[in-house]
Amino acid sequence: MSNNLNIATAYDDKIRIYACDTTNIVKHAQDIFNLWPTSCAALGRTLTIALIMSYMEKMDSKITIKIDGDGPLKNITVVAHKGEVKGFCHNPGVYLTNNNGKLLVGQAIGNGTLTVIKDFGLKEPFSSTTELVSGEIAEDFAYYFNQSEQTNTAVALGVLFDKEGKVTNAGGYLIQVMPNCPDSTITKLEELLKNIKPISNLLADGLTSVDIINLLSDNTAKILETLPIKYHCGCSKERFLNGIKSLGNDEINNLIKDNEDLHITCNFCNVTYTFTPEDLKKLL
Ligand SMILES: [Zn+2]
Repeated sequence: MSNNLNIATAYDDKIRIYACDTTNIVKHAQDIFNLWPTSCAALGRTLTIALIMSYMEKMDSKITIKIDGDGPLKNITVVAHKGEVKGFCHNPGVYLTNNNGKLLVGQAIGNGTLTVIKDFGLKEPFSSTTELVSGEIAEDFAYYFNQSEQTNTAVALGVLFDKEGKVTNAGGYLIQVMPNCPDSTITKLEELLKNIKPISNLLADGLTSVDIINLLSDNTAKILETLPIKYHCGCSKERFLNGIKSLGNDEINNLIKDNEDLHITCNFCNVTYTFTPEDLKKLL
């Protein structure tokens, strides 16, 4: 359930490119949540952009992404920190396609908002909300970067499935234009992006993230870093016990009074923990 992410500089250091193959990570998410294809495409695209963003900040920060829509998928929550990602969607059972079998992620999400919260460990986390442009995730993030961070950014995210609805490929790239980039380079890049295959097709053709960077940069790229990425929850019974303890004695006594086991399932990894009344009494 791990992969790599590459960061490159291209076109005379005027463009920065982040690219990653997240196939193993999205496959893992599909396995743990039994995700149907449209739900899986939406969550997989969001996990991929979150991983890219987790390596974009100079300062150490935890990135939380919330997508809230009025479609059947309702909402998605993803958290990433330095190449580790976890997330879930409210409705794992959405399989919405058009007549040609194309997954309708935008319709599944509907109208709504995208919120990005960056926690740098300071008093107040940075939070920014933009309207969803299409609900297709990549466009919504390109809009977010242009609006909230005033950077000229292109984003491509994709998840591909076999006939049984199982993930075969997943990945994405993000292109950031530096402020001193000449217009001629931007025009050249725009032309190239117009003619490039969708990211999921490139991955299905067997291209690696480095191949994709070379394609996007017209072979002008220098790979700066190759960094690990993986799905990682990090929850434990102790962490949940600490959470229950913070509810206070009245609430804990309430939980104990029926003398039954308490089951809590982690949203981010679907593992269920069982707490006996004895476990809970120790918290008092
Ligand atoms: Zn967990």
